[in-house]
Amino acid sequence: MTAIPQPEIAAGHSNVQAAQFAVHNPATQEIIGTLPNLGAAQIAGAVAKAAAAQVRWAATPVKERLKILSRFADLLCEQKEAVAAVISREAGKPQAEALSTEILVVLDTVKYLRNTLPGFLRPEPVPHGNPAMKLKRGMLLREPYGVVGIISPWNYPFSVPSVQTLTALATGNAVALKPSEFTPYSSLELQRLLREAGLDHELLQVITGEGGAGAALLAADVQKVIFTGSVATGKRVAQTAAARLLPVVLELGGKDPMIVLEDADVDVASSAAVWGAFMNAGQTCLSVERCYVHEAIYEKFLQKCVEKTNRLRVGSSSHPLRRTESGDNETHAGAKDGAPGAEHPEQAEIDVGPMIHERQLKIVQSHVENAISRGVRLLAGGKPLSNLGPNFFAPTILADVDHSMAVMIEETFGPVLPVRSFKTEDEAVALANDSYYGLAASIFTSDRKRGEALAHRIVAGTVMVNDVLACFGISEAPHGGVKASGIGRTHGRFGLEEMVWPKYVDSDRIPRMKKLWWYGYGPAFGQQMGGFIELLFAKGLIKRLRGGVKSTKSYLRRRLL
Ligand code: NAD
Repeated sequence: MTAIPQPEIAAGHSNVQAAQFAVHNPATQEIIGTLPNLGAAQIAGAVAKAAAAQVRWAATPVKERLKILSRFADLLCEQKEAVAAVISREAGKPQAEALSTEILVVLDTVKYLRNTLPGFLRPEPVPHGNPAMKLKRGMLLREPYGVVGIISPWNYPFSVPSVQTLTALATGNAVALKPSEFTPYSSLELQRLLREAGLDHELLQVITGEGGAGAALLAADVQKVIFTGSVATGKRVAQTAAARLLPVVLELGGKDPMIVLEDADVDVASSAAVWGAFMNAGQTCLSVERCYVHEAIYEKFLQKCVEKTNRLRVGSSSHPLRRTESGDNETHAGAKDGAPGAEHPEQAEIDVGPMIHERQLKIVQSHVENAISRGVRLLAGGKPLSNLGPNFFAPTILADVDHSMAVMIEETFGPVLPVRSFKTEDEAVALANDSYYGLAASIFTSDRKRGEALAHRIVAGTVMVNDVLACFGISEAPHGGVKASGIGRTHGRFGLEEMVWPKYVDSDRIPRMKKLWWYGYGPAFGQQMGGFIELLFAKGLIKRLRGGVKSTKSYLRRRLL
């Protein structure tokens, strides 16, 4: 286990009495550590340091910047188990998920940046269509904003802030990163590795603190904000940013639908649904939160989902437990079927970890209890697993739900798979689009073309055909939503564009020529312009040629000022 790094900015402001906050392991409740809850003055100071460093960094050749990112990637690859342990300990997720959905995603991002960035930042010619502008050379430059403020959630404590931070840094920005107060150590790992790789220490400031620190960061001298979190906080961030005219990207919540058509492979679709709903204990913005299955395969699909859910192991990496079909739990040491890790519990891996905190668990419980009280079929789970700790909730399958229930309307953000049937494709599309959110969606079918055609009709930032969630791991793919799921994009080319502002440079090839649209109007100018418009846009060749002659004659009569 790696030593827990401490943020350096706190030490530089020891005269300010910052309150501390404790970070807990959500599986065991142990206190992992305490960190300073930074105040407005400290945050403004950190941003000022970042701004000074950014001027040097923006002047550093792209190749040199990318070398530091490459060294960072080498270090992360070498230390992946240790970093995964830090992530698992504070977020509660299985080590396998820390490696696959956090570290792998970040390493792939560095590779993407190395391949894409030199071309992306190269000045881009802007050819002119208008003949009057043909003597000019247009060029698009992409300029870094300065200091980018990044505010992050707890559910992907390493990959979400790292992808955004690395993209911001690579494009020449400095970063002030405010991680979630529940999972700050993953961001401190990012900072440690970047510094070891040679990054100027001032360039990435990790702002530890609670929500107030996020609000203070918005008030500091940042030039752009990338916020990832809940819709409620996102609205507050958007209001504050609007008052300052601060550009902002909002990556918010989701209520992603999964549609299973009658020609889908039920075994494949049920595995996807179970993983998509329960991975990271259902605490993923892209989780399968609603599932619509064609009536012809509905019961078979449910039966397979239940079988697979009953085989999941719920627990924590330190104390893995096996969930039996009756819904009870017993330790691996007591597992009877020789499940992996039964003989070596310390090496055992679990499938589903705890929720982040009891507040989140209560939301999940209320959605499930509300649905059960309304008469849905409870096919698996349905209750907290208090014997494991206060934050564990049993992977739950609800059948025959409808859109009057909270579990189908609000973001549940927990291990719950609510399922209902549909009769026609039109009905499935209408149900999928009947949501306040629009982050992602998935369609399962044996006919790929049919799936792709249906994808056009779904209102969501991403639609996956025959997979779930994995789009987050595709570095080239833009990530983001429509409707309440947010504004703007991270990842891929669109994510790069969010980190720069476009500067258009136009230079005239004949510096010693007065432009014909300058002063010296007189009656001839109107005729010249009229003729010019006809030359370009009149219907018929004769009219256009006449316009050209008229325009030239008038121009020759003009005296430019
Ligand atoms: P949250 O909104 O509670 O907190 C997010 C961050 O905002 C935290 O760092 C928090 O300290 C900070 N914050 C709180 N109040 C603030 C304020 N007034 N001003 C500025 N910052 C403030 O969200 P959460 O519970 O940490 O994360 C879960 C949510 O994030 C879910 O809704 C999930 O869907 C969403 N999410 C979205 C994506 C995406 O890419 N779309 C990715 C991950 C998570």
